[in-house]
Amino acid sequence: MGRFEGRVAVITGAARGIGFGTATRFAQEGASVAVIDLDEQAAGAAAARLMSDEGAPEGVRAIGIGADVSDAASVAAAVGRVVAELGGIHVLVNNAGITRDNLLFKMSEDDWDLVLGVHLKGAFLMTKAAQQHFVAQRYGKILNLSSTSALGNRGQANYSAAKMGVQGFTRTLGIELGPFGINVNAIAPGFIATEMTDATAARLGIELEEFRRLNAEANPVRRVGQPEDIAAAAAFLCSDEASYITGQTLYVDGGATLG
Ligand code: NAD
Repeated sequence: MGRFEGRVAVITGAARGIGFGTATRFAQEGASVAVIDLDEQAAGAAAARLMSDEGAPEGVRAIGIGADVSDAASVAAAVGRVVAELGGIHVLVNNAGITRDNLLFKMSEDDWDLVLGVHLKGAFLMTKAAQQHFVAQRYGKILNLSSTSALGNRGQANYSAAKMGVQGFTRTLGIELGPFGINVNAIAPGFIATEMTDATAARLGIELEEFRRLNAEANPVRRVGQPEDIAAAAAFLCSDEASYITGQTLYVDGGATLG
């Protein structure tokens, strides 16, 4: 029996990348999955792929919902649809994210607001909408995506602030929500091969393969991460096996931050 049998998992930014990898793993372990992403069509296509995945159990359910996590009305409508269409909500993964990198003196106020809006306000709004269901049923798992960039990364003042903010948010919710049967944790990935890091290579004018090779050399495990690496840790932290773990940030980075 899969660890998420009978559970409904909501994953934001799950049309691709780490979010899709996590959705795939959760569906394979028996969850019904709501894929939330900006574009309803892309979210729907991802949900269809989850349902046709040979690794998923027969009859697995997935829906795609178009929503902007940084918009309160959009979030309320999305969570309402999840509960109406999938019959509840048990797991929330706040994964949606963007980058707008620049050195501080060139960073616009818009690029600050956009990045903080998606990562931090987005996680706040989604969590607030989900927690009322979690508290009522005395059960819930929340996983937030931080980053090794939380520790500081040139050109990412906005992203780094948001990702360290996510860690503080996670710790505080661990304190507040623990008594209600709710676990709240974070994963801080290192370099993961997705369209987000592909775009960074393009912006820096470095060939993709070369960019990945350089990043692989920068950690002791000597490879770049894949969405499946994050999905495996996410599945553990959102499972009942991890019910004594809360408020933590797990670095999944091939040892890149070990020094
Ligand atoms: P990605 O760009 O491949 O996917 C991000 C998804 O989020 C996209 O589908 C996008 O449409 C969606 N999204 C963006 N803004 C949204 C919004 N306002 N509302 C709803 N959906 C929105 O990125 P990824 O690499 O898969 O990253 C996923 C998460 O992991 C992000 O939070 C990112 O910051 C974090 N992360 C990634 C890496 C990495 O190396 N790829 C490292 C550390 C942390």
